Amino acid sequence: MTAEPDGPEDRLRRFATIWSRAVFPATSTSLTRVEFEERLLPLARRLSEALRARDFDADAGQEVGAALVDAHCTDPDALSHALHCVDAYLVLYCGENGPQEDLRARSSRLQHAMAAGYAQALRERTLAEQEAIAQAALNAQGAVAQALHESEARFRAVFEGAAIGIAISDLEGTILQVNGALLRMFGGSEHTVRERNARDWTHPDDAPQVCRLYEELVRGEREHYHTEKAFYRPDGTVLWTNLTVSLLRDADGHPRFQLALMEDTTERRLLNLRLRYEATHDALTGLPNRTLFFERLEKALSAGDGQRFGLCYLDLDGFKTINDSLGHAAGDRLLVEVADRLQSCATAPGEMVARLGGDEFVALTTGPETQREVDDLADRIMNALVTPVRIEGRELLVRGSIGIVEGPAGERGPAEVLRSADITMYRAKSAGGNRYEVADAEADARAITRHGLTTALPMALDRSEFFIEYQPLVHLEDGTVRGAEALVRWLHPQHGVLGPDRFIPLAERTGLIVPLGRWVLEQSVRQAREWQERHRDKLGAGPLRVNVNLSPCQLTHPGLVQDTVDILERAGLEPDTLCLEVTESALIGADDEVLKPLRRLAEMGVDIALDDFGTGYSNLANLRRLPVSVLKLDRSFTQGMQQFPADPVDLRIVEGIVSLAHSLDLTVTVEGVETGAQAEQLRILGCDTAQGWYYARPGPPERLHDLALVDATG
Ligand code: C2E
Ligand code: MG
Ligand code: MG
Repeated sequence: MTAEPDGPEDRLRRFATIWSRAVFPATSTSLTRVEFEERLLPLARRLSEALRARDFDADAGQEVGAALVDAHCTDPDALSHALHCVDAYLVLYCGENGPQEDLRARSSRLQHAMAAGYAQALRERTLAEQEAIAQAALNAQGAVAQALHESEARFRAVFEGAAIGIAISDLEGTILQVNGALLRMFGGSEHTVRERNARDWTHPDDAPQVCRLYEELVRGEREHYHTEKAFYRPDGTVLWTNLTVSLLRDADGHPRFQLALMEDTTERRLLNLRLRYEATHDALTGLPNRTLFFERLEKALSAGDGQRFGLCYLDLDGFKTINDSLGHAAGDRLLVEVADRLQSCATAPGEMVARLGGDEFVALTTGPETQREVDDLADRIMNALVTPVRIEGRELLVRGSIGIVEGPAGERGPAEVLRSADITMYRAKSAGGNRYEVADAEADARAITRHGLTTALPMALDRSEFFIEYQPLVHLEDGTVRGAEALVRWLHPQHGVLGPDRFIPLAERTGLIVPLGRWVLEQSVRQAREWQERHRDKLGAGPLRVNVNLSPCQLTHPGLVQDTVDILERAGLEPDTLCLEVTESALIGADDEVLKPLRRLAEMGVDIALDDFGTGYSNLANLRRLPVSVLKLDRSFTQGMQQFPADPVDLRIVEGIVSLAHSLDLTVTVEGVETGAQAEQLRILGCDTAQGWYYARPGPPERLHDLALVDATG
């Protein structure tokens, strides 16, 4: 038999089966196990849907918890079995294809809500039962006149047989009677329980209104009250109860006695506390987890006027390397140590530290003064990381990058604040790490667009959203157009035309630069070929050449030489009509391996230009080593020649570079020529070719054709 892959419905059913098996033994239901499973199936579906819903809502957990009480899952173990089962299997069976970390966080919030819903429903049920007993007692007292004896007997039976604790006292609080269940709860003899006055049964955790309710009751102004209340047992331990106190009146309606009914909730409360703790704390470090942090952040952000919040979002630098090289156990130890240190940084009231997952931590500070406090907090955190951590005899340096967000409560939601912190943290990271940066709205917006562009980039090439503009290269001596530089643009469907500075760095980071660069090369070479054909018999100055920019990543790509050769051959273009521009910074310190492909291309006759020369502080003597035939002087030199005559020092620098270049047999092209004065200066200084707005802005290929024609004829 071949096993069919399970569909979601099968998996849901399996989850319901496991769940029913786990909980069934702890129910007092009259259903069979299979019937019970049918009863759980819709609950399982409810949880599964909540787990995967687009907008998460933990209320489903509450409803499921209440439904468990309805289904008689009320034995002491039933809740913990049910939660255990949800914890272990819900994400496994119902959460495929989702981000596991988010699903786990949702699952634990659902469990928490289940526990709350369960406790609430159980409490309501108990109250209803208590009500019934109180009614019976009242009836018994009220019927004294008619059938005292029978009534009394019935009351006795209820009193002694009840599973909940019952005490009767007079209006002064003197305890008259207690039943066996109550004695068992208190763990004392009738004597030790009865000798205390009900008024003395106070506990520091009593709700503030309990005293008032008690007084109103004994004065006959209220018939009963409910509260959750703690008592000290005779041995000093604490008993938690759901307490209902009712007033008993005599036949004439005068208040006579108080009847207290109590249910022991100590165990359930402890279980709840433990569950709540587990659902809100990180198992490894013991720090509050994402769930608890979000609760606190939400609270801080919805605080009233004048309140502010400050947040430090920390990500360790290079943690992955430690994990990979020393193993996960060492990584875990490091995280625990970091967690301890962070904890000691945020001890003031209103401060908290949490672990969001992996090596991401967050510290929150609240109050009216966070503008100042959050910087102090970030300083304390950076300081706390300075001392190396000793693990397995090694001293590990721990560094971190922090993104700080600070602001008034009531303006932003938690998700937005956290996203801003995350973006800012990355800014700190890309500035070298081991530092903090403060969020600002403009940087956030830029990062968000950048993110959008990064995701849209891969499709853009398939959708033909890129196009190329050409900027003429002009011979300074005679003013003829000799060629053009190809400059790529992106016609973005929403943002319009984007310049290369907006997307080339992204393309480099994502590797898309290789196919994009190849496309630019292909288009430009084909364009150069077309220019040649149209100019064949009109030009005296030789064929129009094309300059194409290469990114550093393309230099190290193994296909560079072959691709270029293929492209040239397919277009039928001579290699010496192509010039590849490589930035100075890409070649500084490049070893022979990196230079090899460029050298091969140069040997074939392709020109290599050193772009943006003068910005990278390269060693001039090094130029000899490089397979370069053109220097493109950076725009900054040209800018220094705005006025006529220009600054003499600038002039001398350019003059020096030009003569050095010429002595090395390099041609000099100047970029960014915007005025005739600049062009004239640069010509006098001996520069060979110029490019800039003075001649033409980058434009469509036909424009170049016209410009070249004008030059050739005029
Ligand atoms: P680049 O190679 O130095 O290109 C010259 C830049 O200077 C171009 O900016 C051009 O529009 C601009 N420019 C030209 N004349 C003037 C002028 O007179 N004044 C001023 N202020 N600017 C002028 P663009 O097109 O934004 O390109 C920026 C950079 O993007 C290029 O700098 C180049 O490094 C890169 N790039 C462009 N296309 C490609 C490509 O296809 N592949 C790769 N890898 N990089 C490219
Ligand atoms: Mg260039
Ligand atoms: Mg340049």
